[in-house]
Amino acid sequence: MSDCIFCRILAGEIPSQRVYEDEDMVAFHDIHPKAPVHVLVIPRKHIHSLAEAGEDDGALLGRVTLALPRIAKELGLTQGFRTIINTGSGGGQEVFHLHYHILGGPARLPFA
Ligand code: AMP
Ligand code: ZN
Repeated sequence: MSDCIFCRILAGEIPSQRVYEDEDMVAFHDIHPKAPVHVLVIPRKHIHSLAEAGEDDGALLGRVTLALPRIAKELGLTQGFRTIINTGSGGGQEVFHLHYHILGGPARLPFA
């Protein structure tokens, strides 16, 4: 059993509210939402953080990045959304499986 909580979510060992999935990635609601809509998008491949991504991850991360606006639109974020990637402890990363935050809501988000 993996000790990575997002790998365990991918394996179905920890429940999540999935909103999108394909062969490359899974998106699910953040358990502690910091905006009216707060979803995490993770590659199925375990990559510790953006700092550990390699040259050969470029195509995968390109596909994940390009999926973000489609996922945001499906979530009803027609006016736009914010994307955050926290990298390393200094960047506020708490879960060490690369993930993109999608944040949005009916109103404009406050500047962060
Ligand atoms: P970060 O600080 O960028 O590593 O963000 C980790 C995010 O994962 C936080 O916003 C947490 O609320 C979220 N999180 C932690 N555990 C779970 C879980 N089991 N299901 C959904 N989201 C989670
Ligand atoms: Zn993982």
